[in-house]
Amino acid sequence: MDFQWYPGHMTKAKRMMQESMKLIDIMIELVDARIPLSSRNPDIDQLAAGKYRLILLNKYDMADDQVTAEWEKYFKAKGFFVAKTNSKSGKGVKATQNIILEACREKLERDRRRGIKNRPIRAMIAGIPNVGKSTFINSLAGRACTKTGNKPGVTKGKQWIKLNKNIELLDTPGILWPKFEDQTVGLRLALIGSIRDEILNQDEMAIELIEYLKHHYSGILEKRYQVDESEDRVKILNAIAENRNCRMKGNELDYEKAAKILLEEFRNGKLGRISLEVPGEEA
Ligand code: GDP
Repeated sequence: MDFQWYPGHMTKAKRMMQESMKLIDIMIELVDARIPLSSRNPDIDQLAAGKYRLILLNKYDMADDQVTAEWEKYFKAKGFFVAKTNSKSGKGVKATQNIILEACREKLERDRRRGIKNRPIRAMIAGIPNVGKSTFINSLAGRACTKTGNKPGVTKGKQWIKLNKNIELLDTPGILWPKFEDQTVGLRLALIGSIRDEILNQDEMAIELIEYLKHHYSGILEKRYQVDESEDRVKILNAIAENRNCRMKGNELDYEKAAKILLEEFRNGKLGRISLEVPGEEA
């Protein structure tokens, strides 16, 4: 949550990823199922050129199942292997092992034809900060993971986690940075709580969320805060403040407090499973 990017950080992260590329067969990219595009960095396509690719729609437990199914189709159509995971509960995590093998089938068959045995698939996890990389690795590898030491031909210091006899995972995930320069991306990352709240104005964020919910999830605000959704978004925030009795000294309505409550309840899943991005709307 407290991740901050400096140009130096970004250059170092990118260089580390570039160095790891020659060691791996498959790139496993974690994205947030609620904002699969805004939580990606398109640089990864160039970085991972020539590698097998798997996209994991992580935190799908927070996202809208119907929209997640559309995203699965979307990425499959682009040639990616795709799966959805809840790294926190472990749902879908173990199943990724078979998907990794399936994605690398060509290589496994080539090795077999050439009589190469016991050469494991090597995988790397990558994604933007807070997308769930560490949680995923812990869930997949568990406590019983065997860390292999430095082997000949392996860059010194690189640690591999042996998942089974066929798959090894680089223990340090690759860190990508989101497309900060895009305002919509920034807003969506902030809404899901991926970047610091101080960067964006809470009232404005709440108002944007209200607008989005009005159009894509009508009925949710009305049900939770007893507000009239046909009103404009500022009036709705007003009504939420009234509903939750957010008041300043002198009994004046406290919009900022209402905004905080709305954002917090959205992030905690109290408003239900909501996706903030659907395929097809991207420019
Ligand atoms: P990293 O920065 O990419 O390594 O992200 P972390 O693994 O530290 O996870 C960031 C936060 O997201 C933590 O609070 C995790 O518990 C939470 N998290 C990770 N995966 C999931 C998931 O699939 N579902 C939910 N609900 N939370 C998750």
